[in-house]
Amino acid sequence: MEANKIIPDPAQVREELIQKYPAKVAKKRSKSIVINDPETIPEVQANVRTVPGIITQRGCCYAGCKGVVLGPTRDIVNIVHGPIGCSFYAWLTRRNQTKPETLMDANYIPYCFSTDMQEENIVFGGEKKLKIAIQEAYDLFHPKSIAIFSTCPVGLIGDDVHAAAREMKEKFGDCNVFGFSCEGYRGVSQSAGHHIANNGVFKHMVGRDNTPSEGKFKLNLLGEYNIGGDAFEIERIFEKVGITLVASFSGNSTVSAIENSHTADLNVILCHRSINYMGDMMETKYGIPWMKVNFVGAESTAKSLRKIGEYFGDEGLKARIEAVIAEETPKVKAVINEIMPRTKGKTAMLFVGGSRAHHYQDLFTELGMTTVAAGYEFAHRDDYEGRDVLPGIKVDADSKNIEELKIVADPELYNPRKTEAELDALKEKGLEINGYEGMMKQMTKKSLVVDDLSHYESEKLIEIYKPDIFCAGIKEKYVVQKMGIPLKQLHSYDYGGPYTGFEGAINFYKDIDRMVNNPVWKLIKAPWETAGNGKGAGLAASYVTQ
Ligand code: SF4
Repeated sequence: MEANKIIPDPAQVREELIQKYPAKVAKKRSKSIVINDPETIPEVQANVRTVPGIITQRGCCYAGCKGVVLGPTRDIVNIVHGPIGCSFYAWLTRRNQTKPETLMDANYIPYCFSTDMQEENIVFGGEKKLKIAIQEAYDLFHPKSIAIFSTCPVGLIGDDVHAAAREMKEKFGDCNVFGFSCEGYRGVSQSAGHHIANNGVFKHMVGRDNTPSEGKFKLNLLGEYNIGGDAFEIERIFEKVGITLVASFSGNSTVSAIENSHTADLNVILCHRSINYMGDMMETKYGIPWMKVNFVGAESTAKSLRKIGEYFGDEGLKARIEAVIAEETPKVKAVINEIMPRTKGKTAMLFVGGSRAHHYQDLFTELGMTTVAAGYEFAHRDDYEGRDVLPGIKVDADSKNIEELKIVADPELYNPRKTEAELDALKEKGLEINGYEGMMKQMTKKSLVVDDLSHYESEKLIEIYKPDIFCAGIKEKYVVQKMGIPLKQLHSYDYGGPYTGFEGAINFYKDIDRMVNNPVWKLIKAPWETAGNGKGAGLAASYVTQ
C-alpha cells in the first residue's frame, strides 16, 4: 500500500538517529537499526543490554514472569516477594480479563499480594515474612496454587524463595506452592522473565492431571494473554468451528486447565517470543507439535483457522471453518469499506512487545495504512529474522543466566500426534510446523526496523516521518501525544479491545479511524514547530516555588 506522503530515505534516517550519540554508543546502536529487505533479510542486533543512560521502553524480568505469563491465570495466588512498588505498579495495569464459570469460582486477579518488604527485611532477611505471607494467603483463600516471585532486592540479599515454597507445599499438602527466581535485573529485558516463567509453569504445573481431555480437535492457545478480552473473541470463534480449547497460556486460564494441557493434540502460538520455550518443551516431552498463528487481523484470523483445519485434516472441520469465515467476513468488509477512504495512505509506527509490532501491522494493512518503521522491545533475532537463524545466535552471559531445562520424552506420556511423514506432508502444503518466519519477511522493502528503540530515537523518528499514528506503551504515550501524534497503546489497548478475530478487527478499525482522523492532533504543536529561538527550542517548563 502506497503511503500518501513522501517516505524519507531510511539510510539517511538511520544516520540521523545515531549521529548525536558518542562514537561507542553510535556503533552499538547502529547494529540494532536496519533497513529492511524482505528478500534478503539483514541481521539485526537484538536481545542485548541497553546502553546505560539511554531511556529504553523495556521492562524488567519480574514484569515478564509475573506480569505477562503468570498474571492472567485467575486461580493462582501470585505473591510478589519484594517492596510494595514492584507489586503495586503491576496491579491490574495489563488489563487481563477473565471469566470464572460461576460466581463461586476463584478469581484472584483483582488482588495485589505482596510481602511489602521493609528495610528491616533487607537487613535481616525476608524468608520469615514470606512464609507468613504464604500461610496467610492459604488460610484466607485455600487456593490450588501459590506462586512466589522474587524481585531485585530478594536476589541481592539471597532469600531462598524455592526452599520456602517447598517447605510450605509440604506443610499444606493440598496446595501447589512454587517460586520463580525472576529478579528484575536478570537478563536484558522482560524476555528473561518469560523464559523463567515457561520453565516454572512446565516444571510445576503442566502434566499434573492426566485425565484425557474431551473433544475431537483439541488444542492449547499459547502466548495469548486476554488483554481487553482478546481471548474471549478467539474462544467464540473456536466454539463456532468446533475446536476444543484445552488450555490457554494464559489468558482466561485456570490452574486445572494448564495442568491438563499435555492432553491436547496441537499447540498454537500467538506471541512467539514469550512462550516458544513451552511449545518446544511440550513437543519433546509429550509429542505435541506447535504452529505459529496470528489472530490479530481478519485475514490473519482466517488464515490461522485454515492452518488449524489443515493440521487436523478433517473435511468437516475445514468446511465449518470456511462457513464461519464466509459468515464473519462481510461484517468486517463493510466496516473496512466505510473507513478505508479516511485511513488509506496513512502511516504507522509500531514499537511494542515481542510479537505485537508484527501482528498489528496486518490490521493497519487491512485499513490501507503503511507501517514505515517497527521494532520490538524485548525480542531476539529469530522474532525479526525467523527461526532459521537460531543455530547462529551466540548465547551470551545474560542468557546463560537463565536455566535451560533438560527435557526428554516422557516414558509413559510421550505420544507423537503426527508421524514424521505426516508433518513433512503438512510442511509441503505450506504449513510452518514448529517454525516462524519473523517480522521482517512481512515488512516492506526500505521500511526501518529498530530494536529496543530509545526515547531519543522515537522523538527523532516522529520528527522525521511525522507518522499518523505511533503504537507503543504507557511510558511513551503522553510524550508522543504532546508532539501532536496519537499513540495507541498495544500493551494495554488504552481502554479498548478486544482486537483479535473478526469482531476485534472491527473494533480496531473504528478506534484507529477515530484516532488518526481526530482534528485535535492538529491543534497540538510539536516542540520543533513552536515559536522559539531555533529548531527544537520550543520546550519550556516552569516550576512552582514557595
Ligand atoms: S526492576 Fe526490580 S525493583 Fe524494579 S519493578 Fe522490577 S523487580 Fe521490582
